[in-house]
Amino acid sequence: MENLGAILARLRTRKTSSQGSQILPSNVSPSDFQREETCPHGGMVRLYRSVPGQPWTEDNPCPECWTERRKARLYATSGIPDIYWPGGAEPATFESFDLALNRQMEEPRQLARGYCEDGAPPWLVLVGPAGNGKTHLAKAIGITFLERLARVRFWVVPAFLDQLRATFAPESLKNFEEEMRYLAYVPDLVVMDDYGTQSGTPWANERLYLVLNLRYEKRLRTVVTCNRPEALQDEDRIRSRLYDTSICQVVHCRGEDVRPKLRDWRTKRDGDYIHENT
Ligand SMILES: [Zn+2]
Repeated sequence: MENLGAILARLRTRKTSSQGSQILPSNVSPSDFQREETCPHGGMVRLYRSVPGQPWTEDNPCPECWTERRKARLYATSGIPDIYWPGGAEPATFESFDLALNRQMEEPRQLARGYCEDGAPPWLVLVGPAGNGKTHLAKAIGITFLERLARVRFWVVPAFLDQLRATFAPESLKNFEEEMRYLAYVPDLVVMDDYGTQSGTPWANERLYLVLNLRYEKRLRTVVTCNRPEALQDEDRIRSRLYDTSICQVVHCRGEDVRPKLRDWRTKRDGDYIHENT
């Protein structure tokens, strides 16, 4: 919600505009302007010109506040639940990826980080048994992109398709089609988590394939995690895509299921918490 300071600042700008004072004199270049620190956090900054004899001010949206608002919106629409955001209860960042739980994930973590660099192949497929941290890495990639103000869409494929089947109504189909169109073209990064365990209808699976295919042909950044490598192998059309190493890097994530260890850790943490607070 816009705060009072921002509304006042906006009204002030409108007032100046209606006075017709916003036409920049031709002998003034934007570099003549200096910024007055008017924000924190009214949302507007005032630019003024310091050249004597020609006073000039102009109100503009504060770039830092704009960035923060945009980032918040991008996080909120990313599909990554807020507990995994930086500062959340269980942040899923590269820094919080605990290698002590699973030494064998050291190389996959490094490769996943490398994927966030410019010039990396646009596709990354993380394959390996369930529970070894692939999803954490996929979320960490998503968060790295969000921090750079990229549009990210994170999908848990089986959950999404189950949800679609549970609400098999014309409205949900329409939303699904819209989402698929959006996924194919718009996000800077799409993450398809747990691909291959979905039991979607042939129709939904076909749509999913079309989206992946479009993103592949356009070389758009896409991360797929999969704990059933055969799911990728079964689908000839997808398999042939994965062998082109200029577009796709397949990372085999070996290593055990760390979820029982995590559960123990959480039980202990929550136990301590309850103990300390009772
Ligand atoms: Zn600001």
